[in-house]
Amino acid sequence: MNLILLGPPGAGKGTQAKRLFADYQIPQISTGDILREAVRRGTPLGKQAKPIMDQGKLIPDDLMVGVVEERLQQPDCASGFVLDGFPRTIAQAEALESVLGKLGKRLDKVISLEVPEEKLIERISGRRNCPNDGTVYQVYQNPPKRAGFCDKCGGGLVQREDDKEEAVKERLKVYAAQTAPLKGC
Ligand code: AMP
Repeated sequence: MNLILLGPPGAGKGTQAKRLFADYQIPQISTGDILREAVRRGTPLGKQAKPIMDQGKLIPDDLMVGVVEERLQQPDCASGFVLDGFPRTIAQAEALESVLGKLGKRLDKVISLEVPEEKLIERISGRRNCPNDGTVYQVYQNPPKRAGFCDKCGGGLVQREDDKEEAVKERLKVYAAQTAPLKGC
């Protein structure tokens, strides 16, 4: 099963992708996670992406298409995948179509997650991450047992730079302008 999860930041794409993995064993391809890992490791992609991500803007299409094309060729994608955070522009969607054609794959479904904007802002502003193991908490709905610390590893939780107010406003603006139009395709 080859799926795309479409939706604004905070809509729950990551959460649903993890559930789909648990039920169907199809891997989540989160371009945001791939980029954050590249930033953490200090790769050339990470160095280029960090300042753009921190401002809530989009990484250039050609870079992202290359990342996804490579990832889709990994053996774990043979029986399916869930794209989370890609495509984010019309150009990315067109490129994906041709990449899938080249790889002899086709999409089964695009699932669009719709959440009111005030809920998105509430969710994102309450999101805290464990930089050690990547666990995501939500201070209102899914708080850690001890405030500010990861239940699994005990490490201190942080707020992603792009989950801060200014960057969130920009991400929602970018979503409305560049990603939401994909729903009409
Ligand atoms: P996410 O975790 O999906 O919200 O992504 C975090 C950030 O990574 C975004 O705000 C963008 O800066 C960047 N990013 C992730 N996926 C893409 C994409 N498909 N195209 C461009 N930038 C992306």
